[in-house]
Amino acid sequence: MKTVKLANGIDMPVLGLGVFKVAEGAELVSAVKEAIRLGYRSIDTAAIYGNEASTGQGIRESGIPREELFITSKVWNADLGYEETLAAFDETMRKMELDYLDLYLIHWPADNRYIDAWRALETLYKAGRIRAIGVSNFQIHHLETLKNHATIMPTINQVELHPRLTQKELIAYCQENNIHVEAWSPLMQGWLFDNQTLQAIAAYHNKTIAQIILRWDLQNGIIAIPKSTKPHRIAENMDIFDFELTLDEIAKIDALNQNRRVGPDPDNIDF
Ligand code: NAD
Repeated sequence: MKTVKLANGIDMPVLGLGVFKVAEGAELVSAVKEAIRLGYRSIDTAAIYGNEASTGQGIRESGIPREELFITSKVWNADLGYEETLAAFDETMRKMELDYLDLYLIHWPADNRYIDAWRALETLYKAGRIRAIGVSNFQIHHLETLKNHATIMPTINQVELHPRLTQKELIAYCQENNIHVEAWSPLMQGWLFDNQTLQAIAAYHNKTIAQIILRWDLQNGIIAIPKSTKPHRIAENMDIFDFELTLDEIAKIDALNQNRRVGPDPDNIDF
């Protein structure tokens, strides 16, 4: 699996498996194991997904040494605060039955409690319990606020990003500040599969629309975490390393941007 080097020098796979909306249980355990068997090395979960136990089980049963995997979880809004976030991390570790995480993210910039939560992430990072720390759904102004308080800046900003929400300004800011951008809902939760521009590019390369979008992420330096529990789709989403989009094709995909979200607007959240 291809990797990128994060600001603190650690390697992160460019592609991972997302497990949002998959319940605890056998289906999730086998999806995680199947992904790892196929060559995925990165799994993205979160406390709020309510599935950290099965995700951890799949990881432990994969047969791949822990140090070869890259595991992400996220602290939920209700647990933002210094002591609260330390406790939430312990709970995540207990559920996942892991000794450390590769990446721990603040899930949303819910009011200003993310500043104290960030101090907790710094403590956990310095104690060696997390290999990298980052944020999710942060706009430029949230990152600027964090900059005034942080001793370590985030290595990752995981945000909604797909051809209808290309996030160019945020990407430019993150690149200038050595923060890697990671795309959630990279496939726009299925809303782009009848798009004619993408269909034409897919037909030309003999690939699927999912593969075209994930390749577009890759060539733009964006880490992606598409979700599926179906083995053939998990395999399909990884089969993106044997072709290349032209600059013209990338520009055509960029032009699909409508600043349209499938998820909440980080500046307007009520949860
Ligand atoms: P996604 O864009 O990955 O789309 C998932 C949907 O597309 C599923 O219904 C799946 O069955 C389908 N799909 C996947 N591969 C396919 C393929 N090759 N062909 C056809 N259909 C396919 O959406 P998502 O699950 O919302 O996002 C991916 C991951 O991002 C999540 O699982 C989660 O880990 C993460 N996420 C993070 C946040 C956040 O706030 N940080 C929010 C949402 C999701």
